[in-house]
Amino acid sequence: MSHPFDLAGKVAVITGANTGIGQGIALALAAAGADIAAVGRTPATETVEKARALGRRAEVISADLSTIDPVGRVVDETIEKLGGLDILVNNAGIIRRNDSLDFTEEDWDAVMDTNLKSVFFLAQAAARHMVAHGGGKIINIASMLTFQGGIRVPSYTASKSGIGGLTKLLANEWASKGINVNAIAPGYIATNNTAALQADESRNRQIMERIPSGRWGSPDDMGGAAVFLASRASDYVQGHILAVDGGWLAR
Ligand code: NAP
Repeated sequence: MSHPFDLAGKVAVITGANTGIGQGIALALAAAGADIAAVGRTPATETVEKARALGRRAEVISADLSTIDPVGRVVDETIEKLGGLDILVNNAGIIRRNDSLDFTEEDWDAVMDTNLKSVFFLAQAAARHMVAHGGGKIINIASMLTFQGGIRVPSYTASKSGIGGLTKLLANEWASKGINVNAIAPGYIATNNTAALQADESRNRQIMERIPSGRWGSPDDMGGAAVFLASRASDYVQGHILAVDGGWLAR
């Protein structure tokens, strides 16, 4: 019997795989044995090269997920290039910061479209394939703002709170079809997404003081949770939002 975390022979699609958390998760899945479809608007060339260096098959798939136009093609190209689709990691996301009194419709729609609408329709496209081929694993990337309110990020909080509900709803509908739908809620992770916070001396200090682990997380810190939720080790885990936050929510 294979190791419960073994992903050999599985094909994983990761959106936003060129950098940050998406790259960290893609390489963790590759290290566990999965072949990688690295999806995004900036070509994930480095991620693909590193996955290939681990002995995996890996392909760049170009897609701008600010609209749902590419979702069907992402699934088709993955199957065409890698022969299947077993794991989907909905990681691509953006954030816009402004006072709620001044927040624009453009900043609302841009975040909701990328962080929530495309996540649902890509999950739908992938699940149609998974249902017809014996199941699969879907992992959405949530946030501390799936649980908390945050400040000056109204569309981000709405989108990530929506990810929590959507993850549970899809688990309810698809668990009986052999698909596990779960989420990872990263804490404060040092990436482009949080560059402004890291650069703000007082916010940076406040954040560090509140994290029991005493440091920002790294994209690599997300890898173990992703491998767990992508593998048969999590076959009976459904609709769960797994915080990987250095203890932030426990505080
Ligand atoms: P990041 O370094 O800014 O990476 C975001 C990724 O999403 C990039 O690959 C980016 O591509 C991609 N992306 C954005 N818009 C896209 C679009 N329209 N089409 C295709 N790809 C698009 O940020 P990150 O911190 O790794 O964020 C990854 C996920 O984790 C996001 O969902 C974020 O909300 C979530 N998250 C992050 C933290 C944190 O502390 N960093 C905490 C909780 C949740 P480009 O490089 O081309 O822009």
